[in-house]
Amino acid sequence: MRYLSRINRKSLCGTALLRLDFNTEDDWRMRAVLPTIRFLLRHSSKIVIISHRGRPQPRLIRANGRIVGANKKLSLRKDGLRLQKLLGRKIRFVASLNFAAVRKAVNGSPRGSIVLLENLRFWKGEKANDAKFAKKLAALADYYVNDAFAVSHRANASVVAITRFLPSYAGLELEKEIEFLGNVMHHPRHPLVFVIGGAKASDKLEIMKYFENKADWFLLGGAAANTILALKGMDMKKSLMDKDKKNLKRLRGILGYKSVLLPVDLKWSDGMALDIGQKTVGTYRKKIKGAKTIIWSGPMGLFEKRGFGTGNLAMARAIANNRRAFKLTGGGETVMFLKKHRLDKKFSFISTGGGAMLDFLAGKKLPGIGALNKHG
Ligand code: ADP
Ligand code: MG
Repeated sequence: MRYLSRINRKSLCGTALLRLDFNTEDDWRMRAVLPTIRFLLRHSSKIVIISHRGRPQPRLIRANGRIVGANKKLSLRKDGLRLQKLLGRKIRFVASLNFAAVRKAVNGSPRGSIVLLENLRFWKGEKANDAKFAKKLAALADYYVNDAFAVSHRANASVVAITRFLPSYAGLELEKEIEFLGNVMHHPRHPLVFVIGGAKASDKLEIMKYFENKADWFLLGGAAANTILALKGMDMKKSLMDKDKKNLKRLRGILGYKSVLLPVDLKWSDGMALDIGQKTVGTYRKKIKGAKTIIWSGPMGLFEKRGFGTGNLAMARAIANNRRAFKLTGGGETVMFLKKHRLDKKFSFISTGGGAMLDFLAGKKLPGIGALNKHG
């Protein structure tokens, strides 16, 4: 692995192709990579930023490259304006999806400029990890930098295939992720308390298997808790949970874990469990108090809905108040919530990844990092 911070600055003088992840409603992921952009501004001649947003449907893109329907909301134009404000530098947004036009725009932009391309997922090749598409991207620059940890668990063209065609480096943020997450993974202090919530129930529950022998306690909320409660036979009505039979079969093993704590009271609305209750918070808080390592992924409830953020806030405060533990969190919504309540600074490390953080901690090989190791 070649780290951007450690290589000879002279080899950075050409055009950089910088893969970032802007995929949050607010700008926290963007802020996390500003040092990388500033670093490249000092050492490169030009920066071409590539990123994605949401899950657009490439087949809805017209042959003439016009973006229609739901995809319109997923354009990166607004991200360009946001970044421009944060950096205080002009960002040249290239709206075209035609590569000849994109190349012209990049080549025609002056030295020192920052170019932002349109949402990568508007192109079919991105998700398919298509080598032809990666080659087209590669032709825009002299070297590639991955500073998009949050998408490094996906084998996408701009994350994996691209490394075959350009000298490739790990960005400053990615370097920090590898260092901090690596530490938690290899030398966690016990008791280790793993707080799991959020909407992607099976993704997060799946990870528990890797932590069965590592975590002293799992504290469950959100859709993960709903799913397990339903498996235990509780009527969860219309609550958000995983209903896929195959997934549920795989998750059954979790019912046998002695280290799992589930909500004992829930706040309901219209047949849906949307937050954990006071009693649950009380029990969870005790475990958090005694912890020496705390990993938190996914909010405890639908905090965006008025009146349903109390349980989540109480958990956030309890974690923040444990001064001796190593406190790690990550993921789009969890971090957005912490920033809003100004509790983010109380954490030892905030990972820009959600799924990527969990995969890394579980010891899974992330395709993006693997590609940098192989070709970087
Ligand atoms: P993160 O991005 O932090 O990793 P996820 O993407 O898995 O977390 O899920 C975040 C979302 O989960 C939040 O928008 C939150 O509102 C939602 N959520 C949490 N608990 C519930 C629940 N009980 N019912 C519905 N939505 C929930
Ligand atoms: Mg999320």
